[in-house]
Amino acid sequence: MNRRVHIQTMGCQMNVHDSARMEDLLAPMGYEPWDSPRGADLIIVNTCAVREKAEDKVYSYLGRLAEIKARRPDLLIAVAGCVAQARGAEILTRAPAVDMVIGTHAMARVAQVVAERVDTGRPVVDTALGDTLPLAPLPRKRERISAFVTIMSGCDNFCSYCVVPHVRGREISRPPEEILAEVRALADQGVKELTLLGQNVNSYGKKEGMPDFVELLDQVHGVSGIQRLRFVTSHPKDLSPALVDAFSRLDKLCGRVHLPVQSGSDRVLAAMNRRYTVGQYLEKLSALRRVREGMAVTTDIIVGFPGETRAEFQQTLHLVAEGDFDGVFSFKYSDRPYTAASGFPDKISEAEKSRRLNELIELANEIGLRKNRALEGTVCTVLVEGASRKDEREASGRCPDNRTVNFPAENARQLVGTFVEVRIERGNAHSLWGRPAAGPDRTRAQEVTHAA
Ligand code: SF4
Repeated sequence: MNRRVHIQTMGCQMNVHDSARMEDLLAPMGYEPWDSPRGADLIIVNTCAVREKAEDKVYSYLGRLAEIKARRPDLLIAVAGCVAQARGAEILTRAPAVDMVIGTHAMARVAQVVAERVDTGRPVVDTALGDTLPLAPLPRKRERISAFVTIMSGCDNFCSYCVVPHVRGREISRPPEEILAEVRALADQGVKELTLLGQNVNSYGKKEGMPDFVELLDQVHGVSGIQRLRFVTSHPKDLSPALVDAFSRLDKLCGRVHLPVQSGSDRVLAAMNRRYTVGQYLEKLSALRRVREGMAVTTDIIVGFPGETRAEFQQTLHLVAEGDFDGVFSFKYSDRPYTAASGFPDKISEAEKSRRLNELIELANEIGLRKNRALEGTVCTVLVEGASRKDEREASGRCPDNRTVNFPAENARQLVGTFVEVRIERGNAHSLWGRPAAGPDRTRAQEVTHAA
């Protein structure tokens, strides 16, 4: 008899990827993926521990699942991923309805963990970390247009606020031939856009003495069928001149880089153990913008790091204005388990962190809107992903710089996977709106298409 597994994924793209892998691993046990917790036999919560708020969300979701389990005692509940790794057996005490705790590397053993729970009837906790890539790639079926390919996992940087090295383990890079085989298989399935994924892609291969990240990019770029190439995430200290240069050589490499700066104060950056200064960051930012016209750069900022003074926060605002970022992901600092910063003195109050966050968001939105408006009148090549979420009569897709573009289309679903030249008529705060550029203007329009 077929059973149903619902995986509730929280957090980053890495988790989305891990959830898909767990579905694959559970299929031979007869589990079919199920969209809703209702009617599922097994519910796995794939969690994020990067911020306190994300962890709180896990426990409140588990509270709701406990109510379902009270009505259906045969329901199995598992907590997987970063919170599972960070908290281990403590989760069983705090949320007694949970049957299994499956750490970041144990997700590769999800089938064995479920089998053990079923056989013994007792809770199972598996948080052992190994020294191989936790989830080996499996043949994939789902991706049609865009796909993520994990090139490495873990992190060795130990930024003082970050739980990732503690829950994802040390950096491990996948051999290039394995990555290339996966990329070719995806291209054969019709995937056109690829994002190479890792916590710190710029240090790919260094430890293992394998080809470095730029060499890997060159090889992936050579795979026919793949038309757009992206990567996340880059640590600014490891962004090399060779990688900057790759943007001038590799035309499939999309002109958008996510380069988290975190703070505009050198003192705070040192306390965060980021190992670059504001000046060094800005030099790299200028180099990226010099090498590719229209290069979009997004960043992350943490406000209210322990000891951050009002003047240091002003320096961050100043940096955000000077950096002219195309997007800013801003977060309030929160203590995370095992991290150095959780023991730092001079914690900033919640009220002050909220005030700083609001100021930063206001500034970032102003810049984002101005930059989107500046694109009005240009034409961009949109890879169509589907119908717009707000209006079925519009198609939605992305420019090479990853901006979302919506445009009228009667047949949005039939356009999925095609490239459409769209003339931008309106720049909104977080997206662009336009119309297909056709007719006599088209040739000229293509000439002004912003860089791919
Ligand atoms: S580079 Fe720093 S912030 Fe990024 S995952 Fe590693 S420790 Fe965390």
